[in-house]
Amino acid sequence: MGLIIRSSAIHAAGCYTTSPIRKGARVIEYTGRRLSKAEADQACEESPITYLFGLGDGSKVIDGHSMAMFINHSCDANCETSEENGRVWIRAIRNIAAGEEITYDYCLYDGGGDEARCNCGAGNCRGTMYSPEEMRKRQAAARRAAQPAGSKKAQA
Ligand SMILES: [Zn+2]
Repeated sequence: MGLIIRSSAIHAAGCYTTSPIRKGARVIEYTGRRLSKAEADQACEESPITYLFGLGDGSKVIDGHSMAMFINHSCDANCETSEENGRVWIRAIRNIAAGEEITYDYCLYDGGGDEARCNCGAGNCRGTMYSPEEMRKRQAAARRAAQPAGSKKAQA
């Protein structure tokens, strides 16, 4: 199995396979430094371009430095991430042909004011890289904020 990095229609650079990948196969491990949430926040402040991968409940993250950090998000992804004994693998969820770009659904959360707009171009694109759960939370918060002034208590 060969993976290469080249320019992508989705975003800047992407990760492509040079050979077919069978459904269920491990494509690449998402390796990097293991950081606590606090360490990760500090790393983000020091470097604006940081690739972080939330593990489990989000209390630990991986500061990515392998080819896996070039894999783009898609709402119609051909891979998913799976955690196995504390290691994170990018795994194929369907057969992937040689030359295809490797993608997985980022399901972002905790992005603050960042819109994380998605340009994946899939028919089922949800327009954002946030997880459906995160979008429901954000929409609920937006509805609360949009309520007429008289319906909520004045804030000091
Ligand atoms: Zn999309």
